[in-house]
Amino acid sequence: MKLLLVEDEVRMADALSELFRQEGYDVDCFYRGDEGWNALKTGVYDGAILDVMLPGLSGFEITEKCRKAGNLTPILMLTAKGELEDKITGLDAGADDYLTKPFQPGELLARVRALCRRTASSWDGMISFGDLQLHKDTLMLHCITNSESVRLSDKEYRILEYLASNQCRILTKEQLAVKIWGYENEAEYNKVEVYLSFTRKKLAFVNSAVEIKAVRGVGYELRWSHE
Ligand code: CA
Repeated sequence: MKLLLVEDEVRMADALSELFRQEGYDVDCFYRGDEGWNALKTGVYDGAILDVMLPGLSGFEITEKCRKAGNLTPILMLTAKGELEDKITGLDAGADDYLTKPFQPGELLARVRALCRRTASSWDGMISFGDLQLHKDTLMLHCITNSESVRLSDKEYRILEYLASNQCRILTKEQLAVKIWGYENEAEYNKVEVYLSFTRKKLAFVNSAVEIKAVRGVGYELRWSHE
């Protein structure tokens, strides 16, 4: 699970990042609202935790921009104690949940688990697309029309999971690189095509009618030719 944290109190931000990492999340942390928004709009995060008062853009403004852009990343807002107005404004702006400062780490983790569960549990360990089933626990790719299966590598699984959970969108090479290899790793862009070709071979191996289509100059999408 990939989280975005935007918090301008550096000590708090670093402590929370560490907490999330210990829980096994992959966290990107920004101290400014505008930088946080630039990261969030890439669409690669499974959840975002936003402070309200931030330099650049406020947590509300980020949330509003996000929803206006059709980006449905689950958002948890961190509000100052007793600012009821803030909570209402935050939820109106499109946040999914809020947590009042100060809070216990355990409560934050519980809220974040609930926040991300929406994405995760709707798959219930298995993602379907066209004639394909992707099994999270075993990394097996299964084609239901001919019962053929093959085991995916971790990266291949994550590529197909990401493409399959964004069925109406074309994903850019940058989005795939950021999602699969991490935010800092621009050098990894070239690996995307290599791993896409491995993944295409697995799709061909199980004789699936699903293909990873390159949309010239834009990116990649899954397409199912079922006629
Ligand atoms: Ca703040």
